[in-house]
Amino acid sequence: MARKAFLTSIRTSFEQAICTLEALGHDIGVDKGLVNQIFSANSTYVVRFGVRLRGEMHTFTGYRSVHSEHFEPVKGGIRYAPNVKQNEVEALAALMSFKCALVEVPFGGAKGGLVIDPRKWSEGELERITRRFTQELSKRDLISPSQNVPAPDIGTGEREMAWIADEYLKLHPAELNAWACVTGKPISRGGIEGRTEATGRGIQYALRAFFDNTRDLKKTGLSSGLAKKRVIVQGLGNVGFYAALFLSTEDDAIVTHVIERSGSIVNQNGINIQKLRDYINTNGTVEGFPGFVPEGTKLLEEQTDILIPAAKELVITETNASSIKAPLIVEAANGPISAEADKILLDMGKIIIPDMYANAGGVTVSYFEWIKNLSHIRFGRMQRRVEEARFGALIEGITSVTGAKFPKHLEKRAIEGGKEIDLVRSGLEDTMRSTYEVISETWNSHQDIKDLRMAAMIVAIKRIAQSYSSMGI
Ligand code: NAD
Repeated sequence: MARKAFLTSIRTSFEQAICTLEALGHDIGVDKGLVNQIFSANSTYVVRFGVRLRGEMHTFTGYRSVHSEHFEPVKGGIRYAPNVKQNEVEALAALMSFKCALVEVPFGGAKGGLVIDPRKWSEGELERITRRFTQELSKRDLISPSQNVPAPDIGTGEREMAWIADEYLKLHPAELNAWACVTGKPISRGGIEGRTEATGRGIQYALRAFFDNTRDLKKTGLSSGLAKKRVIVQGLGNVGFYAALFLSTEDDAIVTHVIERSGSIVNQNGINIQKLRDYINTNGTVEGFPGFVPEGTKLLEEQTDILIPAAKELVITETNASSIKAPLIVEAANGPISAEADKILLDMGKIIIPDMYANAGGVTVSYFEWIKNLSHIRFGRMQRRVEEARFGALIEGITSVTGAKFPKHLEKRAIEGGKEIDLVRSGLEDTMRSTYEVISETWNSHQDIKDLRMAAMIVAIKRIAQSYSSMGI
């Protein structure tokens, strides 16, 4: 029953993967009863609370769903949107369980939501609402460093996370680890370097991992290397902006199209992503930027090498799937492809890097932030200078023994110890690369496993099942 509700709640290819898994009856070595348990949300709390604003009482409805507690704390963002629904929150909580298992982040899955249109309230009003919501969650242990750790999602960001952390601290002044009650905080309030860019950075690392795997790359018909690959990005928000920026400035990919809500920018020579983002920040629209065209979603169908939907769910459906030309699609957004479209694309031979893996950079760096908060020390603080002294001595030794000069352009890189941002990026790249190899091995291990989504799902389910089994469930 729970699974049925779950399946009807999210009409995306995530659902498709579950159905296919069932239909295939593929022997993944996990007891069917246990698979059923894994597909049900353990609990969902609905909280209704009043806040007196603009001279009257307003009642708000919030959700916090815990999908699986095979690891605690459970982890998942809180979204602020007018259309938040219980079953959607439950489905997204499940996605978080699979995502965490896939990237070996020791958290269970959760998700939260508040039914609100944040644009209708002032900053001060949003702060009061968020603080009241935090009180409601805290009362029920639905926010706690050891049990339940929210993060930003659609409609929330660093600002809301700072309010939540501050309110939690007020409610639990003696809690030593109170800062770890939420991730995605500003650096000045217990956050970590690299969290804001983490999901977009993860997309870049996922693509690097894919392009380094010659066996998988061959299936797309694309030549090796990200340099000069043509890219279309939909949505230049947090995820899309950083993915497009890093791919174009660090990997020499050419972002030819940025599709936004207010129209699109097209430049076959490559769009300057930083300039475009600055323009949007100033003007609130892409209209007026060089290369502006009024078209939107239709441009997903343009000729390109890599298509990155990074805006919202269900933008590729049965109505436009057969017109998609990109051989490689990276699901930067959650659920951008419908179940029907997924099947069409698969039949067309398209390769899809699934959301469950592709956008896991955010939760991975959230995990690093949580560890930083628990250890009460910035990453690299203890060892950085020791490393620098050691590598400096090594270079001195090499030059005195050989009599040759150490190349000047390499010296800085060789000596400089890891700062927090370097360590975060290193940990994230390692996570994305090693996870890709496991998914790829599974994909190529059995002819019934037709795509990366199914492979990722199998890896995640097996890992969750293993945790349950070791607990005796
Ligand atoms: P965001 O609000 O920062 O950015 C979304 C962008 O998409 C905005 O620029 C918006 O104008 C644009 N957009 C909205 N509707 C559009 C449309 N119909 N056509 C074109 N553009 C449109 O959100 P975000 O944090 O970047 O999240 C984007 C997606 O990534 C969501 O599906 C989210 O669940 C998923 N995601 C985000 C994170 C994260 O760390 N932010 C992590 C995992 C998954």
